[in-house]
Formats: sequence, C-alpha cells, structure tokens
Amino acid sequence: GKVADYIPEIATVDPDQFGIALVDLKGNVFGVGDHQKPFSIQSISKVHTLTMVFKAFNSKLWTRVNVEPSGDPFNSIAQLEYEKGIPRNPFINSGALVITDALCSNFDDPLVQLTDFINELAGQTCVKINQEVMRSEKNHGERNTAMAYFLKSYKNFNNPIEEVLDVYFSQCAIEMSCVDLARSFSFLANDGYSIFANREILTESNARRVNALMLTCGFYDEAGEFAFRVGMPGKSGVGGGVAAVMPHKFSIAVWSPELNEKGNSVKAIRALELLTDKLKFSLF
Ligand code: GLU
Repeated sequence: GKVADYIPEIATVDPDQFGIALVDLKGNVFGVGDHQKPFSIQSISKVHTLTMVFKAFNSKLWTRVNVEPSGDPFNSIAQLEYEKGIPRNPFINSGALVITDALCSNFDDPLVQLTDFINELAGQTCVKINQEVMRSEKNHGERNTAMAYFLKSYKNFNNPIEEVLDVYFSQCAIEMSCVDLARSFSFLANDGYSIFANREILTESNARRVNALMLTCGFYDEAGEFAFRVGMPGKSGVGGGVAAVMPHKFSIAVWSPELNEKGNSVKAIRALELLTDKLKFSLF
C-alpha cells in the first residue's frame, strides 16, 4: 500500500507501523504492536460526531443525509448534484460535513464537547488534536470547501462555512491509540451502553442503526469487499486506522498507515480478515 499523501502532514508518518487492540465487553484489553501509539483517526471520527448528533436530531437528521452506500470515492462531489444536495450517507465527506454542521447548530462549543465526549467513551483523557495535521488539511482543503459551498447552495448547510470546516478538519486531526479507539467504540458492541462512561450512549435500536451504516458505508466504496472478507461493521480513515465491532462480543481497532487505492489500510483489513477467519467470528 501507500501512505495517504494528499494531506502532506500525514505523508510523513513511518509506513511500517502496525498495532491492534481488542476490547471485550468486560473492558479487558488485548493488544500487540503499536497499539498504544496515537495516530490520526481521520474519518473514524465521523462515527463519534454522528453519535452526538443522532441524539440531538433523531429522525429529522435523515431528511438531510441519506443512508445508502455511495459506490463513489469518499471525497466525490458528483453525486451531490444529481441528488440535489442530499449526501448519500453520513460517512462520505459531504455527509460528514452536514453532520458537523448539525453538530455546530446543536452544541455551543462543538470541538470541546466532541473531545469531552470521545474521552468519556474511552473512559480516560486520550484525545489530542494535532494542530499541524489540522492546518495541513485546511491548507489543502479545496474539495471539502467546495462541497460545503455546494451543500449551502442546496440549503443543506446552516452555519458559516469556515466555522464548520474548522471543526471538521480538527475532528479529522484527532489522534488516538488503537486501545483508546477500541474503548471508544465499545458501546456499539454493547447495544449502545458504554461500560467506560457508565451510561447509555445510544438506544439499542439507534446503536444498531449506526452499526448498519458502518457495515454498508464504513469503507468508502469498498464496504462490500470489507463485509465479504471480514463481516463486521466498522469505519476506516485515511490515517490507516480501522475501528470495528462484533456486536455482543468486542470492539477492535487496527492501525497501519499504508492504504490501498480505495483509501483503506491494507494491513488492517488483512489482519481483521485473518482474525475473523481464525476465530470464526462474523455477523453472517
Ligand atoms: N480528513 C480527510 C478528508 O476530509 C478524511 C478522509 C478520510 O479519512 O476518509 O479528506
């Protein structure tokens, strides 16, 4: 694979790293390799923002974002025009921008509250925003900026564009380790209840919906391949991370920076494939 180079600051990461951490429903952590090393979680943060907004909006959110796989690259703008400014799903960039816009409408201090929320999910203070990655992405953010303006032209964007983009680039620049990331996904393996936060994060049925979205839309236009090879709901990011859940069993995060041409970590996917094969775990 190849390290993502369209965000220059991410291109400098050592490509040979690999870490994996599994968290069971009792909170036991099993990890190897670079599992404690923070990395850029990028689009995996879209699951955290969706979870925050899901609660605030409930069903109204789904008039602004669809729940269909896109079959297009994560940063594609083409579909938005045919579909009149309603993004295919919350995990492609256009959809995630709508979610971050909703976050800005519903929370007074969205970035601080997002950080607090992820720390709460992980059960410890672990979130760090890498300002260099944030700036690097902002300086090369033409496509995301174009998409935000495009959404606004369809009246599917309510807050000042620069403000929302700053939050969006910052959420993508969050760094966490595999261990903390797997902990922060644990509630999705546990019917919406977080053992680390000691509270219900989403209702059981809404947690199932987030998992359904991850299964169908969590891997750019390679979600089918991931379901075929691994069979778990999950979300990847261009930093080389993958976070996934086996409902009622465990959450897991894997990281290795080299990506395939669809933008998914080659080694993370292979590792999950071997793991689910060996353990005979699959949703299906
Ligand atoms: N920050 C990246 C972007 O908006 C996220 C891409 C990703 O991880 O899918 O292009």
